[in-house]
Amino acid sequence: MMNFEEKTAVVTGGSRGIGRAVCLELAAGGANVVFCYAGNEAAAQETVRAVEDLGARALAVRCDVTEAAQVEALAAAAAEKFGRIDILVNNAGITRDNLLMRMSETDFDAVIAANLKGAFLCMRAVSKRMLKQRYGRIVNLSSVVGLRGNPGQVNYAASKAGIIGMTKSLAKELASRGVTVNAVAPGFIETDMTAALTESARAAAQGSIPMGRLGGAEDVAKSVGFLASDAAAYITGQVLAVDGGMAM
Ligand code: NAP
Repeated sequence: MMNFEEKTAVVTGGSRGIGRAVCLELAAGGANVVFCYAGNEAAAQETVRAVEDLGARALAVRCDVTEAAQVEALAAAAAEKFGRIDILVNNAGITRDNLLMRMSETDFDAVIAANLKGAFLCMRAVSKRMLKQRYGRIVNLSSVVGLRGNPGQVNYAASKAGIIGMTKSLAKELASRGVTVNAVAPGFIETDMTAALTESARAAAQGSIPMGRLGGAEDVAKSVGFLASDAAAYITGQVLAVDGGMAM
């Protein structure tokens, strides 16, 4: 387990799935955990309880990451409660799948706004503070789909490929100031996002994974924890695939 004593982390989309697992991974190492969620209050409260059960402090903030004012308020709430922001994990994300010819402009825009613009707004909201501290760890959630593409997901693939470009660009901007920016690219992970897969789609997915199984949220959280830790101090601008071998 990594040591996050005295560190404060902001995690977007911490109410469920990978985001909740990330909150718990950081809390287990002693971090103060501030997380946001879109609207699922009950799930958010469950994450708060789980973080507190690990002996860490938690703050849940309802915040739509596509709204700049709400993101600024999230960062301000974290800084006010804990005095600093050391770690940002851009995890909040959605899918609105359809084949290109049937994909509405609304569904294209919604996915880009939540997955790509949301990460931009959050990085902008914390980076000045990290620069002043001369310390920061930013970890962005990309996807194997951003590396390889996937039919029915041009919007999602664009957002997740965009995350990689944004990660590398900001890594170069902040590298000399003690702030690292990296991405993880999960494959198929068992969460609400993939629960809607049909049995045949699930079997096909499993068949494309060299390790022969879907991943768990904890598999991703461990990698995020590593990149957010001091053990990864000399790693920046990288994309770590956490996918059972899918994207090699
Ligand atoms: P999930 O179970 O669907 O959870 C999504 C989380 O994001 C929830 O906490 C949700 O809040 C929050 N959220 C959604 N839109 C938001 C918004 N506009 N503002 C603030 N919070 C918002 O998703 P997941 O499977 O854990 O995925 C997490 C991340 O990993 C995503 O970026 C996803 O693209 C990426 N990823 C997932 C997989 C996979 O196989 N699952 C693979 C590759 C990459 P509420 O609970 O309030 O709705």
